[in-house]
Amino acid sequence: MAYLSDIEIASKVEMKPIKDIAVSLGLSEEDYSLYGKYKAKLDSRELDKMKDQENGKLILVTAITPTPAGEGKTTTSVGLADGLSKIGKKAMLALREPSLGPVFGVKGGAAGGGYAQVVPMEDINLHFTGDFHAIGAANNLLAAMLDNHIHHGNTLQIDSRRITWKRVVDMNDRQLRHIVDGLQGRINGVPREDGYDITVASEIMAVLCLADSIVDLKNKLKRIIVGYNFSGDPVTAGDLKAEGAMTALLKDAIHPNLVQTLEHTPALIHGGPFANIAHGCNSVLATKMAMKYADYTITEAGFGADLGAEKFFDIKCRLADIQPDAVVLVATIRALKMHGGVSKKELGPENVSAVLAGLPNLEKHLSNIKEVYGMPVVVAINKFPTDTEAELDAVKKACEEKGVEVVLSDVWGSGGEGGIDLAHKVVELAERDNKFNFVYDLEDSIEEKLIKIVQKIYGGKGIELTPAARREMNDLERLGFGEYPICMAKTQYSFSDDATLIGAPKDFTVTIRNLKVSAGAGFIVALTGAVMTMPGLPKVPAAEKIDVNEDGIISGLF
Ligand code: ADP
Ligand code: MG
Repeated sequence: MAYLSDIEIASKVEMKPIKDIAVSLGLSEEDYSLYGKYKAKLDSRELDKMKDQENGKLILVTAITPTPAGEGKTTTSVGLADGLSKIGKKAMLALREPSLGPVFGVKGGAAGGGYAQVVPMEDINLHFTGDFHAIGAANNLLAAMLDNHIHHGNTLQIDSRRITWKRVVDMNDRQLRHIVDGLQGRINGVPREDGYDITVASEIMAVLCLADSIVDLKNKLKRIIVGYNFSGDPVTAGDLKAEGAMTALLKDAIHPNLVQTLEHTPALIHGGPFANIAHGCNSVLATKMAMKYADYTITEAGFGADLGAEKFFDIKCRLADIQPDAVVLVATIRALKMHGGVSKKELGPENVSAVLAGLPNLEKHLSNIKEVYGMPVVVAINKFPTDTEAELDAVKKACEEKGVEVVLSDVWGSGGEGGIDLAHKVVELAERDNKFNFVYDLEDSIEEKLIKIVQKIYGGKGIELTPAARREMNDLERLGFGEYPICMAKTQYSFSDDATLIGAPKDFTVTIRNLKVSAGAGFIVALTGAVMTMPGLPKVPAAEKIDVNEDGIISGLF
């Protein structure tokens, strides 16, 4: 049977004017700005006016360790929100905006899939309302002001060998990872080794996602460390007098974007840090606003629960002072098979024993959410057309035998209708008491925090700090950053820092290669293993199949 592509399904559904969606939230025309007919920006200052209003429930959607194609967290989130709408609940999504890197790379878009999508999907997947461009511009303005300062005499005595601020572009472009710039003589700048990151790894992205107002945004930007001077002291964006102009570039980007699902459930899509090399959650403003408008806010944190969910709890919830009420853990037959040892090219054919052999990955994520974080959780099996009854039954049975709550979700195939069981279960879980816990305390030393994440969440033995990381750790503690939470930068394909260790590996050591402070965002980034902050494109990028016709209609986006 041939299936319609995501973009074909999306183009067949009639969207409601976004004004109507805004009205359904009780908004008046002053509360939002239209970006065409189907997108709007909500005024984030509204949040302050609503601060005494009660919050709705917050549901986190996370997943087992994924295959490169993704296991359907966004798809499940969208279908769950539509399922909740179907059973008469007021639901809203708070999601990340896709990056152009994956859209043109391996994974494709990130606006859901099948009959569980947010629309207009072409816009959401491409430039949307321009927020990522604004973030890139603010990031690069700071870089330009930094090099310009050095060029014009360097009164701040910035050590160009210790510049930590990189330029960014929202593209998978490995060619830019390491560059030398400022070449060709004194009128063309001061030569130095440099490099680019992808925009979603920029600290500006993290700052935008953690700020709770424009003033907070500016204060955070001011604290960003761009490098160190010859005495080893940090030099900040504030020292370069850059924060005002950077905030000016971000004045619209700070407002959450309102769109809708195929079934017209309202969705806020705002900010989009990756969960492997950044903190992996949409903006605090979008989440908090959704919690005011809706009884159930569904939010997603990137990649597996070892990355996105850990940072959602330990960074976002802690810094934003919010708490989820329940967790949905998405699992797929194909990912379980992969963890059961099947090669990525063979994930199609039925293989019940491999599915069962992959269950330890699911069980480790589950026990983390239940035992470490103290959250009620349900496993959502995201049903694929290739799954067989025998495979689905095997997972259901194995979960039930262990007393794990499990629901089959068919939102990709049937939209909200296929998410009704999951919706009922989530409503039930959200009423339960939870004993929400963080993995580490802020007062723990940097080393203790790293060890706690590796031992409690990843299931490893401990950490090894490279000499550079140890030196950086001591510096960061000396400079007063010891009490910041940790943002782990780690491969998304394994609990460990080695992408080839599938399943639920044990006895491994995680190598901490570098430690870097994001003083504006308010966390320490720990780079582990070989993870990179600028991805590359695969041999055959998704971009080769994307096209647009004479009417401006796009094809090949998925
Ligand atoms: P995640 O958010 O976990 O990365 P997505 O929801 O973006 O995953 O889904 C990844 C890809 O898999 C998308 O292209 C989506 O259309 C597809 N997909 C998700 N769920 C299903 C399903 N049940 N059947 C077929 N394809 C699916
Ligand atoms: Mg996603």
